[in-house]
Amino acid sequence: MDLAFTEKDIAFRDEVRAFIDEAFDKEMREHSRRSRHGYLPKDDHVRWQKRLYDKGWMVPNWPEEHGGPGWDPTQRFIYETEMAAAGAPHVIPFGPRMVAPVIMKFGSEEQKKQFLPAILKSEIIFCQGYSEPGSGSDLASLQMRAEDKGDHYLCNGSKIWTSVAQYADWIFCLVRTSKEAKRQDGISFLLIDMKTPGIQVEPIITVDLPEKGFQEVNQVFFTDVKVPKENRIGEEGKGWTYAKYLLEFERGNPYAGGLKRGLRKIKAIAAAERADGSGALIEDETFRRRISQLEIQIEALEMTELRILSKLAGGQNMGPESSQMKLRGSELQQAVTELMLDAVGLQANPFPPMHFGSNEEPIGPDYADGVAARYANMRKTSIYAGSNEVQHNILAKLVLGL
Ligand SMILES: Cc1cc2nc3c(=O)[nH]c(=O)nc-3n(C[C@H](O)[C@H](O)[C@H](O)COP(=O)(O)OP(=O)(O)OC[C@H]3O[C@@H](n4cnc5c(N)ncnc54)[C@H](O)[C@@H]3O)c2cc1C
Repeated sequence: MDLAFTEKDIAFRDEVRAFIDEAFDKEMREHSRRSRHGYLPKDDHVRWQKRLYDKGWMVPNWPEEHGGPGWDPTQRFIYETEMAAAGAPHVIPFGPRMVAPVIMKFGSEEQKKQFLPAILKSEIIFCQGYSEPGSGSDLASLQMRAEDKGDHYLCNGSKIWTSVAQYADWIFCLVRTSKEAKRQDGISFLLIDMKTPGIQVEPIITVDLPEKGFQEVNQVFFTDVKVPKENRIGEEGKGWTYAKYLLEFERGNPYAGGLKRGLRKIKAIAAAERADGSGALIEDETFRRRISQLEIQIEALEMTELRILSKLAGGQNMGPESSQMKLRGSELQQAVTELMLDAVGLQANPFPPMHFGSNEEPIGPDYADGVAARYANMRKTSIYAGSNEVQHNILAKLVLGL
């Protein structure tokens, strides 16, 4: 296993850094800073994604025939790590990273023509309709009904925790087409236009994002929604297979770059804040120990990421290691925001939630702005895309053979 980057890799890393310096301009940096956890208004995301498209870097995980850049796994890793380290806006993942690979593998030629170029150019934004009230970890228990009406399905039910549904153009949904079959065999995979009559989006207001329109999650209600049969992916009743294929792409992104960025911020805050005695917090022995522990854990995760990368570069699939990365990455994201909250101390007490576009000055020092909101927001990482307990179960079964 060779973990060192080659000269070619380092030249590529410099190219990515130069691109970020130019494309991630002052206005976007300011918007990102104010967004507190990377969620920007749709226009900003689309503007950023179009810059990536112009550079040919919008879809690192796609094959070249569909518009991917033709990178090897090392280049993809460097790209993701540099983007995270710079705090660049993220690409809304549901279209390019999740449903597109499913369309490529299981979709019809018409679906490929209709959706892939539009996703590539950010002409349409997708959201993900998997979870339902009562069906999250136990996804196969989902109830949203799709009745066969000849040339179309009639859909009734509800999806919950749907990120970006307030502005998404399409939603991919797991629906129940049969109640007779084994639970998994009664599920189908539909692409639904969000403009279809009968769809209603209700915001779920969270403590860090109390402003309607800028919410992170929603509940989506479907009442007698007609979905043409040509919008079904693959075969009826095979949705569970396609859904599981998609989950491989939802997990398994590198975390170390973003975590190191958080650690740098903690050190800067600790240099500015004072400890209980009189010196700077960064000089306090107990606090220094906590920083070191976190630093070691992040280094260890980075080694794991590089080890997985070396496996991918050797032509193997990621497999259950994606669960390992998701689990450890989530734990450390929470640990970083927790230590940051401790570092700002009392300055975290004013809890100005995100009001996008507001000119209000932060209460207290600039570095404390948004730290408490981000801490609250990051509690999500151990729940979404499969909770920590679910990832433990996967590892116990597939890695340890328990
Ligand atoms: C911010 C955010 C964004 C999200 N975005 C989306 C989205 O865009 N689209 C979408 O479809 N979903 C989305 N989700 C939903 C997410 O996938 C679910 O919340 C998640 O799968 C957990 O399901 P649940 O909320 O129903 O909790 P439950 O499944 O009810 O779990 C409750 C608790 O029980 C534990 N538990 C459950 N089963 C087991 C088990 N077998 N063994 C041990 N412990 C278990 C869980 O770990 C958890 O602690 C989002 C969630 C969040 C928080």
